[in-house]
Amino acid sequence: MKRIAIIGAGISGLTVANQLKHHATIQIFEKSRGVSGRMSTRYADPFQFDHGAQDFTVRDPDFKDFLAPYIESGLLQEWQPKRVLLEQGKPALDRSWSDSHYVPVPGMNALCIKLAEDLDLTLNTEIINIEQKSGAWFLETKANNSIGPFDWVITSIPALQTIKLLPASFTSHSAIKDVVMLGCHSVMLAMEDPFPWSWQAAIVKNSPIAWMAVNSSKPGRRAKQNTLVVQTDNQWAEAHIETDPTEIQSIVIKELTALLSYDFSKPTYITTHRWRYADTPQSAGADYHLDHTLKLGACGDWFIKGRIEAAFLSGHRLAQKIKSTG
Ligand SMILES: Cc1cc2nc3c(=O)[nH]c(=O)nc-3n(C[C@H](O)[C@H](O)[C@H](O)COP(=O)(O)OP(=O)(O)OC[C@H]3O[C@@H](n4cnc5c(N)ncnc54)[C@H](O)[C@@H]3O)c2cc1C
Repeated sequence: MKRIAIIGAGISGLTVANQLKHHATIQIFEKSRGVSGRMSTRYADPFQFDHGAQDFTVRDPDFKDFLAPYIESGLLQEWQPKRVLLEQGKPALDRSWSDSHYVPVPGMNALCIKLAEDLDLTLNTEIINIEQKSGAWFLETKANNSIGPFDWVITSIPALQTIKLLPASFTSHSAIKDVVMLGCHSVMLAMEDPFPWSWQAAIVKNSPIAWMAVNSSKPGRRAKQNTLVVQTDNQWAEAHIETDPTEIQSIVIKELTALLSYDFSKPTYITTHRWRYADTPQSAGADYHLDHTLKLGACGDWFIKGRIEAAFLSGHRLAQKIKSTG
């Protein structure tokens, strides 16, 4: 059997691993202490927050088929918030969704945790280099270990990290180097009292804030806690990407207070996370990139669009291609 190393345990990498696990010997390496990547959930007992991806839509038939058993089992549930458009000094406008939006239960990370079951997964292991010796690939970890040999290496990490890790002969592929990804800050807060407004999700215009969701309104969450996830506009985030998180938090709280005329000065819990790569205004425009001579592959949302469905499709289509070409 072929030996394949997969770098990154977000939904794209886990999809590749699951689809090739009977076809090759798979080992996955993930730098964080858990799986899910940008579909993670932050736990700060007794609170929990989906601080990355918020929910997802399902349009492609392959994604629908893949999700069907999880919808059936209740691992994925529809979230139907009252959604509004907010702008300072203007009344809230209804912007309810016309299509279904899903969330994993009890937290956003639950789908990736399920996908990681029964896989050979090594956490807390950042791969900083790959090297070819006698026709096989070896991975170099940040802790200075060499792991291998592998016949193939597949990355499922953001575009810039892919460019840093893989040889130029692979990444000079123009579509990869032209990809643009933008950041985002997530401010997570909990308040003692129930929120006084009637909506559970809001898009925000003309503000550093682009989105907020009452996290505790999602199905299966620890519903007794009044938790809010507030995410900054990607362009604004990019301009403030090196700003200290406490300063970001103050700006967001000031903006929230003005927007909602509500006193956020005494949250029960508050923290801020910076996402370096959140959205992809310019994608690679292909589903994935494979080089059969080098025996290297790359997938991830950024090939198609900064969305969970796109990340799945990128990994799925790369795996199908490897299967069909032996
Ligand atoms: C704030 C935010 C909000 C979002 N909102 C939505 C939304 O509402 N709906 C939606 O559909 N999508 C949303 N997205 C996008 C969605 O989260 C992504 O499209 C999807 O999760 C990407 O999956 P992936 O597998 O391609 O990458 P990732 O999830 O980024 O997975 C890559 C993994 O690789 C690991 N890694 C990176 N480098 C290395 C290395 N050198 N060695 C080992 N491991 C490494 C990372 O730790 C990570 O776990 C949002 C994203 C963010 C950040």
